[in-house]
Amino acid sequence: MSVLSSPHFHDDAKAYEYLESIVWADGIVCPHCGTVGGRVYDLSGVRTKASVKNPEGKVRHGLKKCGECRKQFTAKVGTVFEHARLPLTKMLQAVHLMVSSKKGISAHQLSRVLEVQYKSAWFLAHRIREAMRSGDLAQPFGNGGGAVEVDETYIGFKKGVDMKRGGTGHKRAVVTLVDRETGKSKWFHVANASAADIHPIVLGNISREARLMTDEATMYRKIGAEFAEHGKTLHGAGQYVDLNDRTIHTNTVEGAFSIFKRGMRGVYQHCAEHHLHRYLAEFEFRYNTRTANGFDDRERSAEAVKGIAGKRLTYNQSDIRA
Ligand SMILES: [Zn+2]
Repeated sequence: MSVLSSPHFHDDAKAYEYLESIVWADGIVCPHCGTVGGRVYDLSGVRTKASVKNPEGKVRHGLKKCGECRKQFTAKVGTVFEHARLPLTKMLQAVHLMVSSKKGISAHQLSRVLEVQYKSAWFLAHRIREAMRSGDLAQPFGNGGGAVEVDETYIGFKKGVDMKRGGTGHKRAVVTLVDRETGKSKWFHVANASAADIHPIVLGNISREARLMTDEATMYRKIGAEFAEHGKTLHGAGQYVDLNDRTIHTNTVEGAFSIFKRGMRGVYQHCAEHHLHRYLAEFEFRYNTRTANGFDDRERSAEAVKGIAGKRLTYNQSDIRA
């Protein structure tokens, strides 16, 4: 026995039961008329139309009928899995692989492990990233006066921006906040790691009673005064922790960056800039549900599946640029 021998990874009916237990944890919701906990009938034995491959049609697992509006649905309707053609068992396997691989898993590898086409694997991975995207309902970081670390990093290059001018203007910038008390993080793709781009993020997501922790970069200077305390480490002088107050540092957020960079360089070598925010959602999700925050692989999977509800993702073919 292993995690992967769970029945919902192999049996279609069990896969739907698993999905329903998460998506409808608070009662079945009809996606057509919105009735919660109304009369719903199981439609068992319904089959798809006959085809050359399946002359008798395939069983439609998880099919329900709403007693109010009389329409049919499954737990996939209204989620990012709705229009995916892959079997639910394989999609749940993919979720598990993505949440349990610390640095991520490439679409090529997903395609090999799941034995599906590369394009299908690529689409599926983006659906799952969308599920991992946080709903943003969380409280501001640093509530109660805790330390919040903020730092920026760069990953890959912008298209069409001259590299020769030096500096960081030609690189894709990422700003990350880590709440040291809760161990949670938030990741943002910004046009430039400038005061203009960073200030709204810092002010919009961190409580004023927090202890703000940054390096000595000038864009944090002015904004630091808005917070109860602003701890700065002088990275330029080789100082990574304040020797008088060892709680002043940005080592936590830098640890998060190192996982992110190893993943982006080692696993996702090519990432179009317009998809970067989805990869950030993936790394943010795994960071926030890491073992140190009390999640094991099963719980992390369930958390990702929870996120498929209420989000829909559609793509044009032109969006596929691997
Ligand atoms: Zn209904």
